[in-house]
Amino acid sequence: MQIGSIEEFQSKIKRVIITEEEIKSAVKKAGAMINSLYDGKPILLVSILKGSFVFLADLCKQITVPCEIGFMIAKSYYEGTQSSGIVRINMDLEHDVSKYNVIIVEDIVDTGRTLSDVVKLLKSRNPASLRVITLLDKPDRRITDFKADYSLFTIPDYFVIGYGLDCGEYYRNLPYIAEYSEGKDE
Ligand code: 5GP
Repeated sequence: MQIGSIEEFQSKIKRVIITEEEIKSAVKKAGAMINSLYDGKPILLVSILKGSFVFLADLCKQITVPCEIGFMIAKSYYEGTQSSGIVRINMDLEHDVSKYNVIIVEDIVDTGRTLSDVVKLLKSRNPASLRVITLLDKPDRRITDFKADYSLFTIPDYFVIGYGLDCGEYYRNLPYIAEYSEGKDE
């Protein structure tokens, strides 16, 4: 995807659905929840790249208990609409998860395929505990029974951009979440 002009770039941002202030306040609340839940236990925040990097950066600043940070790039393989259960790890964690209470940090749960596979994989490595926190949840599109332990916002079936989420690698740097406009004349 190539964006030809600033006008074209801006025309794809249909409308803001979650403001910077709303995100800030929800992230603060999520951090407080983590601080009270884990209280001194060794935490490993596992960011699933690339979409969760902005959320992770803000969330980890709200955490006041000792925590480490790891990154993973994972891709699920599907047979038709069904998850094959195979997840290809393009970049694996460096940590031995058996030593940690793992919190997977995700940008959005859509069909649920990626996270159900990543959870299956990390559980097979016997973490002390495992929870999933997601910035956004789009339950209308779910085709698995995956449910995150904590989601900051539930949204309708819109394709969204901003705050780490991209379209063709653009828009990750927007400080808010916006609905993406497919066409200029929408
Ligand atoms: P799932 O396996 O749950 O279908 O897909 C999760 C991944 O799909 C997310 O991590 C994200 O990269 C991508 N995705 C799903 N919905 C959206 C969306 O509305 N906007 C963007 N930018 N990415 C999405």
